Amino acid sequence: MEQLFVGGEQVASRSSETIPVENPATEEIIAEVPDASAEDIDRVVEAARRAQRSWGKVDGLTRAELLAECADRLLREAPDLARLLTREQGKPLKESVDEIEWSVTAFRHLGEVARASGGRVVAPTKSGQMNLVLEEPVGTVVHIFPSNYPIVLLAWQCAAALAAGNACIVKPSELTPLTTLQLGPLFDHLPAGIFNIVTATGAGSAQLVGHEGTDMIAFTGSVATGRRIMEGAAPRIKKLLLELGGNNPYIVLADSKLDPASRGAVFSAFLNAGQVCTAASRFYVEESVFDEFMEHAVSQTEALRIGDPMEDVDVGPMVARPLTENIDRALEEFADKGAHVRTGGGRPDNLPKGHFYQPTIVELTDPRQQQPEEEIFGPLATFTPVRDLDEAIELANDTHYGLGASIYTSSLETAMRAATELQAGTVWINDPLKDNDAAPFGGQKMSGMGRELGSEGVSAFTETKHVHIDFAQQPQQEWWFPYERPELQDRPNLYERPNL
Ligand code: NAD
Repeated sequence: MEQLFVGGEQVASRSSETIPVENPATEEIIAEVPDASAEDIDRVVEAARRAQRSWGKVDGLTRAELLAECADRLLREAPDLARLLTREQGKPLKESVDEIEWSVTAFRHLGEVARASGGRVVAPTKSGQMNLVLEEPVGTVVHIFPSNYPIVLLAWQCAAALAAGNACIVKPSELTPLTTLQLGPLFDHLPAGIFNIVTATGAGSAQLVGHEGTDMIAFTGSVATGRRIMEGAAPRIKKLLLELGGNNPYIVLADSKLDPASRGAVFSAFLNAGQVCTAASRFYVEESVFDEFMEHAVSQTEALRIGDPMEDVDVGPMVARPLTENIDRALEEFADKGAHVRTGGGRPDNLPKGHFYQPTIVELTDPRQQQPEEEIFGPLATFTPVRDLDEAIELANDTHYGLGASIYTSSLETAMRAATELQAGTVWINDPLKDNDAAPFGGQKMSGMGRELGSEGVSAFTETKHVHIDFAQQPQQEWWFPYERPELQDRPNLYERPNL
């Protein structure tokens, strides 16, 4: 039985309930983790609160150095962590190694960003005074993560939250808790209690969200769960960071180079078996190049190697059985509307065990066959011809989601028009899905609120405080009582006022 990580040590849960963890490639149960009890949750909140009181006062240089040490330790353990990540999540080993490496750079970068921020000085409204804007830690942050990128999403949030002086309580997905649990003992150089990990299903997670001892909820997952988290956080008006789902458009214009545009399309649709929040699901291709583009995309998709993710493959299984059933259902709905399956469409015949699904391309002749309000979280992509850029942008924006959007074009003018008109937290021009630790990541519209990464991703974990100082300690301000004073009689105007 795995243990929780609380107050700087591995501890046995006081719960008798457990959660089985499956290897999605073999369907074997590979571990059991505790389903934390109410007592476990109280204990972790208490540990985090106690530790945060001193951590919040630690200087930025020390914090940054401790986070750089997290990066070094992650890199050192990358081969073992990546193997475990593939065993529980199902992504090809190469993608797990990438994920750990992206986590390393995030820990390095965000520690330094926090060290260089922390507030600003604004011009005072009167000489002899000074105005400081301080960025202070929020306190104890609950981080709830999904199953698709358990480690890099943790790095993006926890490195920033810790760098800003908060204590973290991490709640990984019940589908993929194992690699996360390794990070507790791996980060044993951090002060005890500032980085805690608990495993739990619905009740324990909801308790963390509503707990009077937690100050902020940082959540990455589906819109449906995000809504429940907002409700749970509402009674205490807790600070929220929400990174939610998407149904992301990808536009290909006739002036683009079709080979990179189709390679980018196949990567963007089928990375991590399509279980990527920013994965492209709706492809809009200018009609004059539609047939040629589809030939490229279909043949590149059919060349993907699908199988045991520990071997040399491009696509592994989906993380759990219900996700493959969702794709079956989505495919049936498209078929009912007259869609044409160009390739894929079900389980591969040669892989009877495991949650494998063929990378699937569906052709839709009419944009009304699209379902832009449904997130397709799996290896299913729909392709539709469009008249021109105007129609493509209109269709791309015709959704309540706004996470990512991609476009391929050789025209700078077109690219810049798309960059401004596409409604998404990230717009990729000729290179889909690329992230940058130094640039913000997040969703517009229903895809979330707040941003990770960059200086925005550190500010997300701070409270802002204005400090007003009169360093001359003036004996009498013009705006104070009494209002009847000789020196005020000849005053030309009342421009100087208190800040109301
Ligand atoms: P999910 O919403 O089902 O679960 C996410 C987490 O929420 C899990 O840890 C789960 O245990 C927890 N949870 C479930 N019910 C809860 C409750 N009532 N209170 C508190 N926590 C609760 O998501 P998933 O299936 O694990 O992940 C896929 C989703 O995540 C997709 O929608 C995807 O787009 C999204 N996602 C978004 C981003 C982003 O950065 N915007 C990144 C990755 C994934």
